[in-house]
Amino acid sequence: MKRTLAALFLTLLLCSCGAPREPESVQFFAMDTLMTITCTEEDLDAVHHAMREIARLDALLSRTREESAVSALNRGETVEDAELAALLTRAAKLCKATGGAFDVTVAPVVSAWGFTADEYRVPTQEEITALLTHVGAGGIGSDGEVTTLAEGVSVDLGGIGKGYASDCAARVFKEENVSGALAALGGNIYAHGTKSDGSPWRVAVRDPFDGSAYVGALSLTDAFAVTSGGYERYFESGGKTYHHIIDPSTGYPAESGLASVTVVCGEGLLADALSTALYVMGEAKAIEFYRTFEEPFDMILVTQDGRVVLTEGAAALWDTSVAEHSYQYETINKL
Ligand code: AMP
Ligand code: MG
Repeated sequence: MKRTLAALFLTLLLCSCGAPREPESVQFFAMDTLMTITCTEEDLDAVHHAMREIARLDALLSRTREESAVSALNRGETVEDAELAALLTRAAKLCKATGGAFDVTVAPVVSAWGFTADEYRVPTQEEITALLTHVGAGGIGSDGEVTTLAEGVSVDLGGIGKGYASDCAARVFKEENVSGALAALGGNIYAHGTKSDGSPWRVAVRDPFDGSAYVGALSLTDAFAVTSGGYERYFESGGKTYHHIIDPSTGYPAESGLASVTVVCGEGLLADALSTALYVMGEAKAIEFYRTFEEPFDMILVTQDGRVVLTEGAAALWDTSVAEHSYQYETINKL
């Protein structure tokens, strides 16, 4: 797969009938994902600025664009780029904090399953075992500006890049005094300010078992919400489904009993990394992590057996009026 950002700026005037504060929706393709930013007409310039920032990050972080800094790193080159060095240092820290559940060095295993090039296949156990010897954040060497990867190590920022991009969009919105905007970078949402009527943005959480249904919706203001789910990218082989979130301890798609994880917090990068990590961990470890992790966050777990588990902070933002099916909701607290 070699999809490049095709400077495709499809500005959809959802309502151009003269009502000044009706929302506009700007769609574009970046980071292998269709992205939509909703704002009012007066904030369109700022939204285009945010879009250029996201395009810049795509060119820096893409694994499939040969000219990107990440591709150079993965070819074994030393790369001098302070932003990339900071991002990888943070990724390595989050790898440690999540007990290795989130690990950008899982890259060669992701590729072996065909998720990098969209050429899906089931690797042999021997192949996975050999590739796992190159997995571990200890393989990332960075001195603050310059990054080098150990022999055989490569990185995949697919589990963190869009969240980081949403932080950059948030920074632009703030600098340019945007009153309200909703950035949906695939499953990575940033709700900036409020809607023009002053009410919070509403972000529905998909039912992982029914693509046209929702398990509920969050009311968000100045918050990030990121969902990870096996249903987002998968293939079938021999009657079995294999998805794109790899458990770095086994090299196989995580089978943790969760169908999706949504993380809500004040930073896109953190929400993105944690949604991937908690999906790998499974319900019990995710709840333990929620209770012990030093940085505050909230989460919504949808389990394979159909339960919806919300932390108390998420429950306070939650309403079920969009849920067409009936679900069993459970709330957990910090203790
Ligand atoms: P997300 O959709 O944010 O959960 O990220 C999934 C993407 O991150 C995959 O498509 C891979 O590119 C990459 N990835 C897969 N497993 C992991 C993992 N355990 N840790 C970090 N990144 C991963
Ligand atoms: Mg993620």
